[in-house]
Amino acid sequence: MKVGILKEIKAAENRVSMTPTGVEVLCANGHDVVVETAAGVGSGFSNEEYVAAGAKIIDTPAEIYATADMVMHVKEPQPSEYDMVREGQIVFTYFHFAPDEPLTRAFIKNKSIAIAYETVEGPAGDLPLLTPMSEVAGRMSIQEGAKYLERDFGGRGLLMGGVTGVAPANVVVIGGGVVGTNAAQMACGLGAKVSLLDMNLDRLRYLSEVMPKNCFPMMSSPALLRELLLEADVVIGAVLVAGAKAPKLVTREMLKSMKDGAVIVDVAIDQGGCFETSKATTHQDPVFDVEGVIHYCVANMPGAVPVTSTMALTNATLPYALEIANKGWKQAAIESNPIKTGLNIVNGQVTYKGVADAFDLEY
Ligand code: NAD
Repeated sequence: MKVGILKEIKAAENRVSMTPTGVEVLCANGHDVVVETAAGVGSGFSNEEYVAAGAKIIDTPAEIYATADMVMHVKEPQPSEYDMVREGQIVFTYFHFAPDEPLTRAFIKNKSIAIAYETVEGPAGDLPLLTPMSEVAGRMSIQEGAKYLERDFGGRGLLMGGVTGVAPANVVVIGGGVVGTNAAQMACGLGAKVSLLDMNLDRLRYLSEVMPKNCFPMMSSPALLRELLLEADVVIGAVLVAGAKAPKLVTREMLKSMKDGAVIVDVAIDQGGCFETSKATTHQDPVFDVEGVIHYCVANMPGAVPVTSTMALTNATLPYALEIANKGWKQAAIESNPIKTGLNIVNGQVTYKGVADAFDLEY
């Protein structure tokens, strides 16, 4: 199969859908790989590295769309690309169709095979192509929390880990899933005292077994949150209720009880955020202050670390890309449930219920 790796054109997106290491694996399996020129530059990969891995460099996206059997992106194709997609062509990327009607209509019209990273589902109902980005955001949330605790960044002037004879910071992580567990691990590693809250008893049982001694997994409740917020230096919002907006767990009233110069990092902001006072920010202007508490609410945190994010994404997508390339999308979807669940729009027909429901389309 001929696989095309496109350059991202969405604003401020520096990731790329395949590293040279991934390209080498595709080529070793007998596939031809074409890479748009400079596609990897934002993630630290040169054209020469792709050529050394076996790819051919192509100047324009139009040439890639014109010949590739499968094209890969990170973000959803942009309007300038809609008419380049060919009937029967496989497009494998994060689509997020449900909030984007023009994109959905364009992919019904172009009769391509749209396989969405975000709906590829693992055997335990997990979402293996979303997990790596949650890991990045979770880990990064503590770096950001530690940074904004510094006085020059507006914080309390506290070192997260403390030092000999001086207590460390109190970190509260709300949500003990992928983001929350990664955040808690990083905060524990720095020596903070970490309260990790979740609603799921089985999950709490597991976390109690595997987390370090300075992490205290606890059942989430408004009463416990009110108590912990009084002493908190950094609070991480990491809850997810599948298919719904994030619940507002910390109200403005509760925020008022927090210390001046404390920091909240609302990772769940892409689902609306779990603090009443959150609103989405950007890497260019990431924080704002409400009631003396610094709010960091960047909706695409992994975008700040494209080298790590690109490698983590390729690690996760490559096995599926390879399976699709080796077997063709039809056979791959028959043999692999994750690939079947990734199919969103096929030959003009919506095949994913969530997308059909979003626009009242036939399914
Ligand atoms: P996850 O499903 O792995 O974990 C969510 C956890 O929240 C679950 O364990 C669940 O039991 C728990 N939870 C639900 N309601 C709760 C409550 N009331 N109190 C405490 N815990 C509760 O999800 P995840 O992958 O960790 O993602 C968390 C959020 O981070 C999502 O909204 C996701 O979209 C977002 N995210 C944001 C970025 C970003 O750049 N801002 C990047 C990646 C993920």
